[in-house]
Amino acid sequence: MLADRLKTLAPSSTLAVQAKAKALRAAGVDVISFGAGEPDFDTPERIKQAAIEALRRGQTKYTEVGGILELRRAVCAKLKRDNGLDYGPDEVLISCGAKHTLFNMVTALLNPGDELLVPSPFWVSYPEQARLVGGVPVAVATEERTGFDLDPDRLRAAVTPRTRAIVLNSPNNPTGAVFSPDALERVARLAVERGLWLVSDECYEALTFEGRHVSVASFGPEVKARTLVINTCSKAYAMTGWRIGYGAGPRELVRAMTDVQSQVTSNPSSIAQWAAVEALNGPQDEVAKMAGEFDRRRRLIVQGLNALPGVSCVMPKGAFYAFANVSGLRGRTWQNAEGTTATLGGSVDVTAFLLEAARVAVVPGLDFGSDAHVRLSYATSDRLIGEGLARMGAAIAALA
Ligand code: PMP
Ligand code: GLU
Repeated sequence: MLADRLKTLAPSSTLAVQAKAKALRAAGVDVISFGAGEPDFDTPERIKQAAIEALRRGQTKYTEVGGILELRRAVCAKLKRDNGLDYGPDEVLISCGAKHTLFNMVTALLNPGDELLVPSPFWVSYPEQARLVGGVPVAVATEERTGFDLDPDRLRAAVTPRTRAIVLNSPNNPTGAVFSPDALERVARLAVERGLWLVSDECYEALTFEGRHVSVASFGPEVKARTLVINTCSKAYAMTGWRIGYGAGPRELVRAMTDVQSQVTSNPSSIAQWAAVEALNGPQDEVAKMAGEFDRRRRLIVQGLNALPGVSCVMPKGAFYAFANVSGLRGRTWQNAEGTTATLGGSVDVTAFLLEAARVAVVPGLDFGSDAHVRLSYATSDRLIGEGLARMGAAIAALA
């Protein structure tokens, strides 16, 4: 028998869709995947070289649990350069991806029954990680008509004596929202007033196409004192496989998270850490180049989605996801592989329909907190975006 916590655990659906598309392709089915939330670019050469050099130098041993000093210093320099934030190396923790930073955070902050406010739609892992440590995730809706901007009034209304922290993710996965500075500031004030932690997941910072990325920690010392800033090398430097993410925050919290990590994984890969030093300290021009490319693809896919009957999509301002509203397809029918007539209801039906009838993989919005939507990652080529949209168009045209 497994532990009770496994009874409710939903495995990561973003990773599951990616795996399913890969398995279908291996079986000879030609699937176009909009599932994977990872850049299709290769890691820049200068970063790979830094890893090779680290190997040659023999940097192959355990490091400090919280990461080598050189990398923690590089993170401090990045936070100063890009966000105007002052942190010392003892206020920084390097982990095995930002996902791991987040798990260290819930372990260090949540007692069983403590509530974590999660603006919805949300990235799939926030609620599941909270549940794994006995916490209670509380989804707080945002509105499509505001471009899914943060809603400070709803967040205020959701605070209870059990609330411990608010997760802020801007640019947002899955909606692509870049939260307005005004809404962020109001939520920062709420956190100070009610003594809450702010967890600011800024993993898509480098992919901000409209508006301006503002780190909530920059709203003053009393806000910074209760904020954990989280970022990663995965997206900006196309380093998803290297597994380097980081958090910066008050010393006591970072120390607690480091203690958790010391009993779970120890340090992240020494070689990947040296590569990350180069990623953060070296010339940043390829970051802007990749971002420019994503910006172009964003327009291409959103325009294509809005041209599909029954589908609408607000223009995302950042990250590399389109969160398409497919509620206009509800009630339409199609013949599935078993030869039975299936009726489209929520996002899981639409996802199954697109995979079978269009051989296009998307992620159901249900897992992100909205059953009216599906998520498409446009971190893929123009050709595949064009071909995928054409297939979706043909399948939708054939619906009864
Ligand atoms: N936060 C968000 C919003 C994400 O989409 C992801 C997935 N890449 C992560 C954190 C974790 O990224 P990683 O573990 O690769 O650093
Ligand atoms: N974060 C990416 C996504 O949402 C990668 C997969 C994952 O870590 O969930 O697709």
